Amino acid sequence: MSNQLSDRVNNMATSATLAMAAKARELKEAGKDIIGLSLGEPDFTIPEFVKEAAIKAVEENYHSYTPVDGYAELKKSIITKFKRDNNLTYAPSQIVVSTGAKQTLANLAQVLLNEGDEVLLPAPYWVSYADISKVAGGVPVEIKSTIENDFKITPEALEAAITPKTKMMIYSSPCNPSGSVFSRAELRALADVLVKYPKIIVVSDEIYEHINFTDDRVSMAQFEDMYDRTVTVNGVSKAFSMTGWRIGYMGGPEYIARACNKMQGQVTSGANCIAQRATITALENSPSKIQYMIDAFKERRSLILGLLNDIPGFKTNEPEGAFYVFPDVSYYFGKTLKGQTIANASDFALYLLEFAGVATVTGEAFGDPDCIRISYAASENDIKEAMKRIKAALV
Ligand code: PMP
Ligand code: GLU
Repeated sequence: MSNQLSDRVNNMATSATLAMAAKARELKEAGKDIIGLSLGEPDFTIPEFVKEAAIKAVEENYHSYTPVDGYAELKKSIITKFKRDNNLTYAPSQIVVSTGAKQTLANLAQVLLNEGDEVLLPAPYWVSYADISKVAGGVPVEIKSTIENDFKITPEALEAAITPKTKMMIYSSPCNPSGSVFSRAELRALADVLVKYPKIIVVSDEIYEHINFTDDRVSMAQFEDMYDRTVTVNGVSKAFSMTGWRIGYMGGPEYIARACNKMQGQVTSGANCIAQRATITALENSPSKIQYMIDAFKERRSLILGLLNDIPGFKTNEPEGAFYVFPDVSYYFGKTLKGQTIANASDFALYLLEFAGVATVTGEAFGDPDCIRISYAASENDIKEAMKRIKAALV
């Protein structure tokens, strides 16, 4: 039978993070000893107080459809969280709860982009931004950065990328995959460019906000002249280790929130009711309750950087947040190791999978073909063993 699939899906790339994780899982199931450092997924269990809230919700018989944009109580705790942690003021009509921040981002692309609209992606960027934009008719426009500049774009590069077709800019800070965190001054310098182009909507993905090892905690929407056209995206996957519970949310201009509500009313009917109840409790608690995870990630960052810097050919910078390192491995391009010619970062990641038994993700998927992404959301033992094996496979 001929392929009856739409051009839309045929032209879409498979998520490189999920594809590598699936490949690693398959190899593990076939009995191979694989250390998975491909997926950005905290290895901690869900905090007890969140588990208890979910159990209580089941016992209290929460079972029916929720309001499409989320329970009123959940919106209230999101509003309190935005005020407490980000000094951002939102009304309930500006909040939408979705099935993971991924759906929040997909909603935004669907409601904001027309065919051919350009989406600025400061590179390296999170893997799904490009295809989420493309499937909504958008055209991703990468803005390059360098490892020497801590993978942060300059205001000049931002301005040079803007055209009359630019509609949206999406970035994460702390950044997946580079771990970079924009300082207030750096973000203000980008805002100074953006204020000249009032039609551009900025999507600030702050899902790693708590996993930030700097004192800079700044949101684009905190700048008064950007508030009306910035959407702040967040979720509980990373901070509360709730990846599988699938709750994300946004705060932003009311007309955009209303459109996202309409969109998901036709697509999902809203997020899971038990997970929403648990999220109320998660967000109402002080971020100090999850400090133990942040402290552990900070220690693992030092551990992995120390070990990586001991491997020839890995050029690293110091990530300031999230739980990834993004080394430049272009030193290996064109070299032949164990009979395998390594032409690019994808070959290199596959080589590490086969000869070191370590799953990473190619930087190509994140808009930087010289790098690979290594997640250190893994145990210290796994990190040590993985680095030992990588070193052995490369010398
Ligand atoms: N944004 C970034 C930068 C991410 O790394 C991820 C991956 N979890 C998401 C959004 C999506 O998160 P969620 O699990 O809430 O869909
Ligand atoms: N965001 C995580 C990552 O980048 C999870 C995988 C995904 O959602 O694509 O690895």
